[in-house]
Amino acid sequence: MKTINKRILLLVVVTILFLAITGLLMFSMFFHAEEYALQSVNGHLYENGVLISAGDIVDVNGTKLAYTEDGERKYADSAQVRTALLHIIGDDAGFIAGGIQDTFREELCGYNIIYGVNQTARNTLQLSLDADLCAYAYNELRPYKGCIAVCNYKTGELVCMASSPSYDMYDKPDNIDNNDEYEGVYINRLYGGLYTPGSIFKVVTALSAIENIDDIYNQTFYCDGSYSTGDGEIICNDVHGTVTFQQALNQSCNVAFAQIAVQLGADNLNHAFQQAGLATPHKTIDRLSSTAGSFSTSTENSDSEVGWAGIGQSTTLVNPYSFLTFMCAVANGGTAYEPYFVRSAVNGNNRQVYTAKPVDSSITLSKTTASTLKELLRSDVSDFYGDYIFGDVTMCGKTGTAERDDGLPHAWFAGFSYDESFPYAVIAVLENSGSGLRYAGHAAANVMQELYDKQS
Ligand SMILES: [Zn+2]
Repeated sequence: MKTINKRILLLVVVTILFLAITGLLMFSMFFHAEEYALQSVNGHLYENGVLISAGDIVDVNGTKLAYTEDGERKYADSAQVRTALLHIIGDDAGFIAGGIQDTFREELCGYNIIYGVNQTARNTLQLSLDADLCAYAYNELRPYKGCIAVCNYKTGELVCMASSPSYDMYDKPDNIDNNDEYEGVYINRLYGGLYTPGSIFKVVTALSAIENIDDIYNQTFYCDGSYSTGDGEIICNDVHGTVTFQQALNQSCNVAFAQIAVQLGADNLNHAFQQAGLATPHKTIDRLSSTAGSFSTSTENSDSEVGWAGIGQSTTLVNPYSFLTFMCAVANGGTAYEPYFVRSAVNGNNRQVYTAKPVDSSITLSKTTASTLKELLRSDVSDFYGDYIFGDVTMCGKTGTAERDDGLPHAWFAGFSYDESFPYAVIAVLENSGSGLRYAGHAAANVMQELYDKQS
């Protein structure tokens, strides 16, 4: 009897173990099947870890940016387009973080939980980006490092994006990993870059002033080239004499804006930094994430430190994608969608298997604040930079010349078209190039004009 009982017990234990392991396997297969199917060991999709088979990726005009032909993964015909779009598409060996060949692998490979990877019905990804405009923007960045992007502020669709440095994946430089010219080459600087903002930060200080200083439009500021706070000194880029709030922004007067920052205090500035969506990473519907900016000036800091923070020259860091989204919100009455560029994925029967569903960014400015800022940024261009720089586009914007210890300043331009029938916002940063207007301002102006000409 005892032996039989033991055998039954053993049988029960073995059966339970068998069922448990089978259950675990099924659970794992069900929830991780996609991971297994799309892994680089899958010989249908990869050869020696290199992607060989996936669907097409096309730009807004239908230009092929990536496709599979004769069992080989191929990219755009033009070397300039391949170079400009490298960070968007990603390389086939997985060096580029966040390329859509990786983030949209499931849609590209036609993965389905029932049928697995469907070799005959791969999907086509359609982007909102114009490949030629991206190549144009990349040339505007060179020879500097940096990024440019243009977004439709009504829909959130990005029409142009370029990050420098880049390379042609058909002709990857041998010395890329130990040549300073290619420092950070695998990063898309629009999403991953963090920079001292310089004077584009005055838009954040102006936002706070509009909301917190009742008589800001009645105040005047006197600039004799420097401002002594008692515990330090803020130096201006010029001697501006007596200026109003608007003139101070137009002429980017450091003395006036340091005084405004001291009136506001660190807490108000920090709040405006958060309001503008610059403090936290943005999660995009393209399955990317931008780097969070940082504003570390607090009530513990001296007046001169708060003054330097108010003109964007302290420890503050901003991310270009976040600042572009902020510009979209100012242009669009206070709110904006998260910018994105993957419009849809369609299968062989032209049925959409993925459709972008734009999401609101966390930025919420009041309509009044947004329209006041919009008019102020318009006056920067009309009253100071000169409308002639921007050709056919009636622009609003702010330049920044962020002083650096490691060489020439970073040049910034952040702005947007005033005319809502051409609803585009632009961000440009050219690292260690020089003056904001001369480098970033002109690059942004040329890209906006090129877009305007394409649509006329
Ligand atoms: Zn000044």
